Amino acid sequence: MAFVITRSCCKDSSCVPVCPVDCIRPAGAPGEYTDSEMLYIDPDTCIDCGLCMEECPVDAIYSGENLPQDLERFRDINAEYFKRHPLQQYGEPLPEEHDPVEPGSLRVAIVGAGPAGCYNACELLFIDGVEVDMYERLPTPYGLIRGGVAPDHLNTKEIVDVFDGAFTDDRFACHLNVEVGRDLTHEDLMAHHHAVVYAVGAFHSRTLGIPGEELSGHHSATDFVAWYNGHPDFADQSFDLTHERAVIIGNGNVAIDVARMLLLEPDELADTDIADHALQALSQSNVKEVVVLGRHAPRDAAYTLKEFLALAHLSGIDVVVESDYLEARPDDDIEFEMKVNAAREYAQREPSPENKRIVFRFLVSPVEIVGSDRVEGLRVVHNAVDESGAFVQGDPTGETELIETPLILRSIGHRGSRIEGLPFDEGRCIVPNDRGRVLGDDGEPLPGVYVTGWIKRGAHGVIGTNKTDAEETVARLWEDFDDGKLTSDIQDSASLQELVAQRDGEVIDWSGWRAIDAAERQRGEEASRPRVKFVDIAEMLAAAQSAASSR
Ligand code: NAP
Repeated sequence: MAFVITRSCCKDSSCVPVCPVDCIRPAGAPGEYTDSEMLYIDPDTCIDCGLCMEECPVDAIYSGENLPQDLERFRDINAEYFKRHPLQQYGEPLPEEHDPVEPGSLRVAIVGAGPAGCYNACELLFIDGVEVDMYERLPTPYGLIRGGVAPDHLNTKEIVDVFDGAFTDDRFACHLNVEVGRDLTHEDLMAHHHAVVYAVGAFHSRTLGIPGEELSGHHSATDFVAWYNGHPDFADQSFDLTHERAVIIGNGNVAIDVARMLLLEPDELADTDIADHALQALSQSNVKEVVVLGRHAPRDAAYTLKEFLALAHLSGIDVVVESDYLEARPDDDIEFEMKVNAAREYAQREPSPENKRIVFRFLVSPVEIVGSDRVEGLRVVHNAVDESGAFVQGDPTGETELIETPLILRSIGHRGSRIEGLPFDEGRCIVPNDRGRVLGDDGEPLPGVYVTGWIKRGAHGVIGTNKTDAEETVARLWEDFDDGKLTSDIQDSASLQELVAQRDGEVIDWSGWRAIDAAERQRGEEASRPRVKFVDIAEMLAAAQSAASSR
């Protein structure tokens, strides 16, 4: 009985190299980035050894014999994938591991301690002799793993365990609560490191550019996510949860996370690490219907199949699909076809009047946020489609409709911001780069400067996608090292320590973070929850400090 990859797959791909028969796809050749958002196991080739399951950091892999009922469907999904994409060996040799380097010959700064930065650090620390300094604005690491992944996706958060070994290595130094651009400049980093890798993500939400965006009651989903995840910058935000209906613009996986969080029952939320303030507010919420709006037909919805399917298992919540376009195209690939099939199944279900509901509407674009002092509703236009059901850009029907609601969450993707001292591509909102090497205005690589993660490739991909992305960037860094391009005369680490210490405020190191982590878990234990997060920076610093003083 073959093993099966299921919905919590994070695409970290740790399972791929351990598979003795190489039957997990589509992982890409070693170091190659692929933009699919989950992996599949070929049931005809799997030899049932279970190594992939042991390696999976987020418990997404099950033996076919022990597949829980709510994941049963993934047996067919894994098999179907290989019917369309018969297993082929990549035929690429594994990249050779780099030889150890002389201590002191390669010190790398990584800016940002989110998944992109963490994978990058691990990839570098894997080679003996390399030293890594990681800088992060917040007193806590892990970026979107802590502040973005939905609280009810606790499995996904377990991915942090893969970084543990590397981050306790003496060659790794962590400088949390230090902001590059405020406390340290790009030039400071270049003066103390042979290379600098920016892994700063894409934190800001895109804007719609329609009238009424400034009205109170309209928020970015990014803010809402940061609020329920206890990001200290967003802890004092408030959202109007008094009305029965909330509307989400955009239908990516963030929209799906937000829809779930708005509707889960208080006892389900309490089983998670949601911030206390959000638990309290959502427990008193009156929201019963969340309307999720997409510009295209269901085939081209931005959510992924696994997140869409998972909604079917929420208790007391119906999924309603309103669309006339519920057939895949004859030449559609399997992931499209399964997505349309799932939408059709939802559309055929009869919702129950006593249940809450997530209503997916398609082929509508927002044209105006309506209200005098605050949001009263969203005006949408119905989009035109061609014979195949595809959305025709810029050709609306002129038929509009007002959806009444006091709460609109804009979930239309993220954008990266300019980094002081580096070029920036305003159109794509990324730092221009060639597979991770930052390119100057003349198109030539800037020596010793690299990017990884969303600031490199744009805001798409799941947590584990950052692993292959990091491999790609680090491969460029090694090429440059081997070509003698990373030999600048840098100042020593004592001078760096001094510089960092001059900044205003406490610097938290890895043991400080471990103390914060332990204190949050302890608070969680007392409340029978996985953890109770600190949302106030002063409280985080106090927790880190109390551990430092007891050492
Ligand atoms: P996304 O997947 O890019 O979705 C953005 C949505 O906004 C799309 O539906 C897009 O529609 C729509 N949109 C963009 N501009 C619009 C406009 N002007 N008017 C109306 N709609 C507009 O972004 P995301 O949901 O923020 O997710 C970012 C990445 O994180 C994705 O790769 C996602 O899979 C990943 N993620 C994964 C998980 C998970 O695995 N559980 C959870 C959260 C996020 P069009 O398609 O028409 O452009």
